[in-house]
Amino acid sequence: MSTIGKSSSDVCSVRGSETAPSNKITSCEQKKKEGLCENNSRITNTTSSIDDVSNDIDIMNISNSKHNEELKRAAELHDEKLFKQPPQEEDCPICFMRMPTLGSTGYKYYACCGKVICSGCIFAPVYDNQGNIVAGKKCPFCRTPAPYTDEEAAERERKRVELSDPIAIHNLGIYYAEGLYGLPQDYVKALELFHRAAELGHTGAYRTIGCIYDVKVDEKKANHYYELAAIGGNVNARYNLGQVEWRAGNFDRALKHHMIAIRGGEVDSVNSIKQMYTKGHATKKDYTKALQSYQEYLGEIKSTQRDEAAAADEDYRYY
Ligand SMILES: [Zn+2]
Ligand SMILES: [Zn+2]
Repeated sequence: MSTIGKSSSDVCSVRGSETAPSNKITSCEQKKKEGLCENNSRITNTTSSIDDVSNDIDIMNISNSKHNEELKRAAELHDEKLFKQPPQEEDCPICFMRMPTLGSTGYKYYACCGKVICSGCIFAPVYDNQGNIVAGKKCPFCRTPAPYTDEEAAERERKRVELSDPIAIHNLGIYYAEGLYGLPQDYVKALELFHRAAELGHTGAYRTIGCIYDVKVDEKKANHYYELAAIGGNVNARYNLGQVEWRAGNFDRALKHHMIAIRGGEVDSVNSIKQMYTKGHATKKDYTKALQSYQEYLGEIKSTQRDEAAAADEDYRYY
């Protein structure tokens, strides 16, 4: 209230009196009594207020529309980056075929040399220089014998961590998160390792961070990390984003995410588009395209060696 009063008297004294406003309130009140200030100030003030306010509104509108344009452009740039087909995983270093994306059985990480090897090459026998099958389990890439104990396996991973291997760092994060291999359960340490692995290029680590925030029901943060993972080529995170957009009713965006995930080999996204189609949120053409994309992916990853491995053991299933 005092601010309003002061402001009114200021306006009144300045505009209503030619003399210096030594006592603004008095001079204003006096002029009001004289019937000068009130009229003058009202008329003058009203006119100037409209001008000022109009100018302010104009400036605000220009500034708002500029700000809105900037926001719109930022959103467009963000979407351009988000919906760009991401890079594929590296090919298998032994058979040079496209790596299957089915985690845990389609490929395996070897801490001896830090290589990721496909199920077919893991299953295939390892031969020595004379062409004899090497007995015992060895790394198909560097021929290091498999570790005998969990401690030995953990020690190998620790050495890879020292070499800043992002997969080993991510794995160590999981051991801390779950308190495995004699390590204490430590979520803070785990999260720190996930961030480090992600910064070193492990897109799966961004997804892991996203999952942590998902569990904490912080959808905004979860989506942020799913996006980082998806942009880097993580198909599981891409699938998650597709589901998030579907739940939000953004069918167009959901479809885009699922289509990208399918090209990356995510079969669950084919099922999602099928469901969207059944519910009328996607067209038959969308579903056909989804099936075609998945067939193209299968065409790139299928091999006799991988099929033999999958037929021999469920642990080598790769799609
Ligand atoms: Zn291979
Ligand atoms: Zn190896």
